[in-house]
Amino acid sequence: MQKVLIANRGEIALRIIRACKELGLKTVAVHSTADRELMHLAMADETVCIGPAIATESYLNIPRIISAAEVTGADAIHPGYGFLAENADFAEQIERSGFTFIGPSADVIRLMGDKVSAIEAMKKAGVPTVPGSDGPLPEDEQKCLQIAKRVGYPVIIKASGGGGGRGMRVVHKEEDLIKSIRLTRTEAGAAFGNPMVYLEKFLTNPRHVEVQVLSDGQGNAIHLGDRDCSLQRRHQKIIEEAPAPGVDEKARAEVQARCVQACIELGYRGAGTFEFLYEDGQFFFIEMNTRIQVEHPISEMVTGIDILKEQIKVCGGLPLSLKQEDVVIRGHAIECRINAEDPTSFLPSPGTVSFFHAPGGNGVRVDSHLYSGYKVPPNYDSLVGKLITYGATRDEALARMRNALDELVVDGIKTNTPLHRELVRDEGFCKGGVNIHYLEKKLGIS
Ligand code: ADP
Repeated sequence: MQKVLIANRGEIALRIIRACKELGLKTVAVHSTADRELMHLAMADETVCIGPAIATESYLNIPRIISAAEVTGADAIHPGYGFLAENADFAEQIERSGFTFIGPSADVIRLMGDKVSAIEAMKKAGVPTVPGSDGPLPEDEQKCLQIAKRVGYPVIIKASGGGGGRGMRVVHKEEDLIKSIRLTRTEAGAAFGNPMVYLEKFLTNPRHVEVQVLSDGQGNAIHLGDRDCSLQRRHQKIIEEAPAPGVDEKARAEVQARCVQACIELGYRGAGTFEFLYEDGQFFFIEMNTRIQVEHPISEMVTGIDILKEQIKVCGGLPLSLKQEDVVIRGHAIECRINAEDPTSFLPSPGTVSFFHAPGGNGVRVDSHLYSGYKVPPNYDSLVGKLITYGATRDEALARMRNALDELVVDGIKTNTPLHRELVRDEGFCKGGVNIHYLEKKLGIS
C-alpha cells in the first residue's frame, strides 16, 4: 500500500490523512463542490472534486470514487464512517477493481449489516444477545404472539435491515403486538428494501457499552477495552467515555474475550466495534459496526494505541503487531461531540465560523476540521469536531473537559457547546453510569 484515497470529509478525513502521513503513505482527498475549503485538502498530495454538494452525487457515488482512485493511481480506499463505510457493495466493487478496501471483506460487512444474521453469528461465537425471537418473526401471527409471550413484555420489534435508530417499535401490551409487527414490516420494506423483522426483549434501563476490537483476518485479534456511550439523544451519541465506569469486572472480561473470539471466527479484518446494552451486570449484543467509529479517540487515549494506523496496516495485509498483553488500559478519557446546531432546539446551524479557538493543555485533544473563516456547509452531518480529554482518573478527565469546553470558542455559528458545559457539571453524569434514557429525560423529551 502506497497511496490511500480518503472517501470522506470533515474531521474523520483529517484524522485519516494524519494517520496516513505518519505511516509515510501518499494521500488523495476527494471532495464535493461544497467542500473546497476543507482543511485536509491542503494536506493531501492530490485532490479530486468528485461531484456536487448532494452526497448521492459525490460521497455516496461509488463509480466516481473508484474513478478518482484510478486516475490518481491510489491503491487503497479508506471509507471513514458514515457515507459508504458499511456498504458491502462498495467494498466489493473496490476489491473487484483491484484496490484495497480499508475495512473487512464485503461478506463480513453484509453478514453484520443484516441484524438477524449478525445476531446468529454472535450466538455461534458465544457472544451474549438479547433474549428474543431467535431469528426472523414468522408470517403466522399466532406464533408471533406466542414468541412475545415467551420473551415477556415489553418487547421491541426491529427491522433486520434497519440502522441509524430507524425501523424499531416498542410494544408494551399483547393487544398492540400484531399491529406493530405489520407496521414495522411495511416500513422496513419501504425504507430498507427488506421486510424481515425480529423481536427482542425491551430492556428498560440499559446502558450502552461497546467493545473496540482490532483484527487482521489472519487469526489474530485483540480488544482495546470498552466505552460507555449512554449519553444519547434520539439514538445519537453526545458524550462518550472510556473505560465504561462501574462495570462488573467478570462480565466485562468475559464479553471482551468473546468479542475477540468472534473476530477470529468471522475472519474479521480491521477496526470494529461490538455494541451492547448493559443492564443488571449483564451484556446483550445489539449490533456490530464494521468500521472506525466517531468515538475511537477515547480508546486511543486510554491504551496509547493509534487505532487508525493499526486499521490501515492490517487492512494492507500486515499481521497485527500487537498482542492482548500489550494492551493496558490506563486512566480515563471523555469525548464531547461538538455539533453545529442550536443547543436547545437542536436545529442545524451551518454558516461561516468567524473565529475559532481550540482549547489546549495537558490531556486535551481536539479532532476538528474547523478554522477561523471556514464555512460549514448545510449539506452534511453537523459534527464539526470532537473534544477529548484524558486524565489519570475519571474526575481528572472531567475537570479537564470542563476547562476545555470553557476555553473552546466557535463564533459565527451555533454549537452544542453550552449543552456540553452543562452536562459535564451534571450531578448524575459526574457520578457515572447513567442509562441511555438519562439525557432525554433531563432534556424533558421522554
Ligand atoms: P441501529 O442500528 O438503528 O442503531 P440498534 O440495534 O443499535 O439500532 O439500537 C439502537 C438503540 O435502540 C440502542 O442504542 C438502544 O437505545 C435502543 N434499543 C435497541 N434494542 C433495544 C432493546 N432490546 N431494549 C432496549 N433498547 C433497545
